[in-house]
Amino acid sequence: MVAVLDFEDTGSGDEAVDLARRHLIQPWPTAGAIGAEARGLIGEGDGIYITDGKGRRLIDGPAGMWCINVGHRREELARAMYDQAMQLSYNTPWYTMNEPSAMLAQRLAAHAPGDLSHVFYTTGGSTAVETALRFMQFYNNARGQPEKKLILSRGGAYHGSTYLSASLNGRPRDRDWMDGADGLVVKLTAPNPFRRPAGMSVEAFCDFLVDEFRDAVRGIGAEKIGAFIAEPVQASGGVIVPPENYLKRVRELCRANDLLFISDEVVTAFGRLGHVFASGDVFGIEPDMITFAKGVTSGYFPLGGLMVSERLLEDLRRSNHPDAMFAHGLTYSSHPVGCAVALKNLDLLEGGILDHARKIAPYFQARLKTLEELPLVGEVRGMGLMACVECVADRESNDPLQLDRQVGSRIDAHCHELGLLVRPLINMCVMSPPLIITKDEIDDMVTILREGISRTMEDLRREGVW
Ligand code: PMP
Repeated sequence: MVAVLDFEDTGSGDEAVDLARRHLIQPWPTAGAIGAEARGLIGEGDGIYITDGKGRRLIDGPAGMWCINVGHRREELARAMYDQAMQLSYNTPWYTMNEPSAMLAQRLAAHAPGDLSHVFYTTGGSTAVETALRFMQFYNNARGQPEKKLILSRGGAYHGSTYLSASLNGRPRDRDWMDGADGLVVKLTAPNPFRRPAGMSVEAFCDFLVDEFRDAVRGIGAEKIGAFIAEPVQASGGVIVPPENYLKRVRELCRANDLLFISDEVVTAFGRLGHVFASGDVFGIEPDMITFAKGVTSGYFPLGGLMVSERLLEDLRRSNHPDAMFAHGLTYSSHPVGCAVALKNLDLLEGGILDHARKIAPYFQARLKTLEELPLVGEVRGMGLMACVECVADRESNDPLQLDRQVGSRIDAHCHELGLLVRPLINMCVMSPPLIITKDEIDDMVTILREGISRTMEDLRREGVW
């Protein structure tokens, strides 16, 4: 039985888009458009490019959702999936195991900082974060500390779309219409130097953040807090690079107070910051757990995971409840096809793409930084191959609020016409291209973005809203 549509369906001229309007619920829809959204069709991908439904070739500026790290249409990855599916497409992870999952776990452990030795595979980032949080709860139950469950998160954070992971989110609008497990979460200030209090140095802002953390732990009581979770660079919050040493300092506070430090590397791992994991190699910290997804398969297969330190496993082995069960498992945990493509993806990264990403990153950042010449741009910031262009109403006050909320989308629309896909975020645009991008392609990307922002400035002036 086909649902009857109560809105006028005029037809887009494209069959797939019309079918989507009738039958598809896209992620992040608005109430009035659920089931009726006609998002742009993407037909093909190749390297750093995608082709839209109208046959236009676009640079994939956000690499999908920060995930197509080795680029589109990599035959090696397609073949790895095909070969594995022909050999073994599934096994029940409860009773049996497969070779690719074990081999991948060993290689991930070799790249991970400190004593992170074991991997629990999930279906993506949200389920990885959910697994980390449930693991913390289980760990404290088994250790006989059932009161130690609160989670410290931060403004600007994005950790997922399952109930508990979404409860940690701290971006504007994430929670306007959505419920969450608020009793379990305490939010701290976003470590965003661009939005630090006027007149405060970045160093003083870092002290402020660390003091706030220490005071929160003191005020609540460490015996009630189970974990602190942080993206090393907040991604969807607008590529927020924290002040230097902030992560090291809060890591020490976690250690001193017996809080588990969960580093959410769903975006920052697998080359985005030039290394397989950024926590150790970029920020010099050894978390208790790392969550990953996206770039682990360059987005070719939905796979994520949680890395856990040997110390936590040892604590559990020695706890008073060795029979306690971590009652948590996903049908697709340790999926052989996902792990096989991840192994091949890791070969590509180790075989030159990580080196390339490290070498090209300064050029990428420097070229984008030139956009600060445009009066609408308040700041261009970033690290590695992730960057954000933040637009402001007024460069003196950096006020983003009086601005029309759709500035990011307006820039995106202009850039789309010109051959570039960008990821709009309210008054910001995020860029995180495939890691294989060349200097010439970076030049093309920045030229289009400059033109897209210039056209947006003209629109805003014409409308008298800027
Ligand atoms: N953590 C971070 C840091 C993310 O950026 C995301 C997704 N953008 C997630 C978790 C959730 O991952 P997924 O969408 O794969 O569930």
